Amino acid sequence: MSTTRTRVAIVGGGPAGLMLSHLLHLSGIESVVLDHREVAEIETTHRAGILERDAVRLLVDSGASERVLTEGDRHGGIHLRFGGVNHHVDFERHVGASVWLYPQTEVFVDLHRTRTRDGGDLRYGISGTQVHDVTGSPRVTYVDAEGVTHEVRAEIVVGADGSRSICRALVDPRKQYFREYPFAWFGFLCEAPKSADELVYTRSERGFALISQRTEDVQRMYFQCDAGEDPTAWSEDRIWSEMHARTAGHDDFVLRTGPVIEKSVLPFRSFVQTPMRHGNLVLAGDAAHTVPPTGAKGLNLALADVRVLAEVLERALVKDDAAALDGYTERALSRVWKAQHFSYWMTTMLHRTAEGSDFDELRQLGELSWLVGSEAGSAYLAEGYTGWPSR
Ligand SMILES: Cc1cc2nc3c(=O)[nH]c(=O)nc-3n(C[C@H](O)[C@H](O)[C@H](O)COP(=O)(O)OP(=O)(O)OC[C@H]3O[C@@H](n4cnc5c(N)ncnc54)[C@H](O)[C@@H]3O)c2cc1C
Repeated sequence: MSTTRTRVAIVGGGPAGLMLSHLLHLSGIESVVLDHREVAEIETTHRAGILERDAVRLLVDSGASERVLTEGDRHGGIHLRFGGVNHHVDFERHVGASVWLYPQTEVFVDLHRTRTRDGGDLRYGISGTQVHDVTGSPRVTYVDAEGVTHEVRAEIVVGADGSRSICRALVDPRKQYFREYPFAWFGFLCEAPKSADELVYTRSERGFALISQRTEDVQRMYFQCDAGEDPTAWSEDRIWSEMHARTAGHDDFVLRTGPVIEKSVLPFRSFVQTPMRHGNLVLAGDAAHTVPPTGAKGLNLALADVRVLAEVLERALVKDDAAALDGYTERALSRVWKAQHFSYWMTTMLHRTAEGSDFDELRQLGELSWLVGSEAGSAYLAEGYTGWPSR
């Protein structure tokens, strides 16, 4: 068994793990990143697409990405479509901020490229990860592609290993909070021109639909479906017929269609685990919390966590401030709970409820018309969507 010694072992080389490794490198702290997927698989798995203002600043200011500004699309607002008409909510006007459409796959490419350029120790395609002795001298063991067992000894282990984290089970005692939703999202990529310049969040009697963009020729769309839906049961004709039915209206909006090139069903769940630290183990990103995708918060929360964590680890490891880690959970979770509420609020305002009662429909329409008809309502949405300024 080979042994490597490092200061921080990071389990999970997604956006949270890679960004943390990058920020630690800037502070002169070495780390090893371990991930059981191959780089090529992560680079081609479509997930989030919207970056908050502070996430873009973090990518740019830390030197991780220039491309987000040149190849990403700045969106100054969103369209809320209900009653058969688009209503634009102008974020710039209400809170002076925008979001950026820049797919998670590109964020990963930028971070991976940056860490590789800077000589980062990145180990993808491993298996059998195990974390040991987190309250003493922690170490992580794993098996490489040739079947050789390795050990990484570190002062701190970070669990950035996503929603199926093995690390979070090592936090003891722990408290977990769940909110299940009785539906899911059917997501698909299609080769079609853009239907709109910004995202269109649609509430219809048949349920929610979202029109999002990727490039000039490829678009990402979603519609609310049953939790156990089988993507293979949906032909291209059936998908477009459902999207047309949900986005039909009496304005000049036109849904642009084309070949469907990928489809999947996204689970819908809210989850938070606290604390996010146990001894010398710390959690970040989806390992500690997940949100439904409605508010586009998952990726942004992962990046917000590691912004705080990098600062705390620098104080602990460079400035010998051993107590620095104590405040990490509270600081990270204060943003997480805001995002949980925002995602829950957007979800319950736009989705057809299980009962589909008249009362709920009319209540949702009342809320939506307040939102687009009032400065305060629009500002509330704009501030939550673009992200609460970090301290
Ligand atoms: C289908 C889908 C669509 C989404 N859409 C949106 C969206 O529209 N907007 C939004 O904001 N968010 C969205 N999200 C959420 C967003 O993708 C996540 O919040 C984000 O990826 C979190 O980053 P992370 O680094 O914490 O976790 P991840 O990106 O999941 O990275 C974790 C990494 O850990 C690795 N790993 C896991 N277990 C182990 C192990 N035992 N050993 C070693 N490595 C391990 C994984 O291979 C992975 O690369 C979506 C998620 C999914 C699944």
